[in-house]
Amino acid sequence: MKIALVGIGKIARDQHVPAIAASPDWDLAATVSRHASVEGVSAYDDFAAMLSAHPDIPVISLCLPPVPRFAYADMAIRAGRHVMLEKPPGATLTECHTLRALARDHHVALYATWHSRQADKVPAAKAWLKDKTLRSLSVIWREDVRKWHPGQDWVFEAGGLGVFDPGINALSILSEILPDPVHLTQAELCFPENRDTPIAATCRFHHPTGAPVTLELDWREVGNDIWTIEATTDAGTLTLENGGGKLTIDGQADESLPGLSGEYPRLYDQMAKLVARGGIDMDLAPMRHVADAFTLGRRVTVEAFDW
Ligand code: NAP
Repeated sequence: MKIALVGIGKIARDQHVPAIAASPDWDLAATVSRHASVEGVSAYDDFAAMLSAHPDIPVISLCLPPVPRFAYADMAIRAGRHVMLEKPPGATLTECHTLRALARDHHVALYATWHSRQADKVPAAKAWLKDKTLRSLSVIWREDVRKWHPGQDWVFEAGGLGVFDPGINALSILSEILPDPVHLTQAELCFPENRDTPIAATCRFHHPTGAPVTLELDWREVGNDIWTIEATTDAGTLTLENGGGKLTIDGQADESLPGLSGEYPRLYDQMAKLVARGGIDMDLAPMRHVADAFTLGRRVTVEAFDW
């Protein structure tokens, strides 16, 4: 299937272009970006122009930051194209609901991707937790914003989510592996005095058994990334590290490996299946937790941040 990539920035280059190139399902037929292109692929700087020049491209993958993304998704769906959305699927929940209704009306496939859910050990963690009683759970997601978002001011602008940009990855795993839903009850958000989104946050959640569930996010980590979920249960302790790439149960490593390798190859495999069968895959649970954090969170002002 022919596909067009829109927004040729960090994630498009790091993950989408290689995943598409390696897939038997996809042919990268066009790109849309105001400043960038991919060698050997038809390049456009205007999305409407690409859509009208290429009625032969049925699928659009949007790799833009969240705030500009809705207008592109809206235009693509109205043009009858299937759409794949980078995470988060929109700048607001209402945008996402609007896109879902629009895709339904236009009978196109819509996929809100959560790449972290495709990490190697997420299915095994989900399977293990399925019949356990949770006693406590902590999520620690600490990384260096300068390493993962070098110079990307949009992450600190309204709608850019700040530290919840990676934090939503943790929440996408949490909402996938826990058999019972949690909801946020308390949050503290640390905003640099010169920025509009938080650089760190702590959150607490309600779990039906009363088990304490906590989340700690920090973008000021200068050492190694720490992307860890630890769950203590009635039958042992599960530790999911490396953003879902490593699983140990009571210190014993899980060595099983799913077939297809890599988060983005798995996303594109899912998209090919979704287009083939039709329909919408848009789980908004991770976004709801983030929206709740911004609604309930107490704001704390911290030191200014500059690149
Ligand atoms: P990025 O490099 O800053 O932006 C991607 C591209 O979007 C840019 O190259 C830019 O292309 C285009 N763009 C930016 N602002 C725009 C605007 N206002 N209107 C139209 N186009 C605009 O960001 P990224 O890191 O690739 O992240 C994009 C998305 O991927 C985000 O939602 C992020 O959460 C997600 N993601 C990122 C990472 C990561 O490691 N960075 C990992 C996983 C997922 P032109 O200026 O050339 O048009």
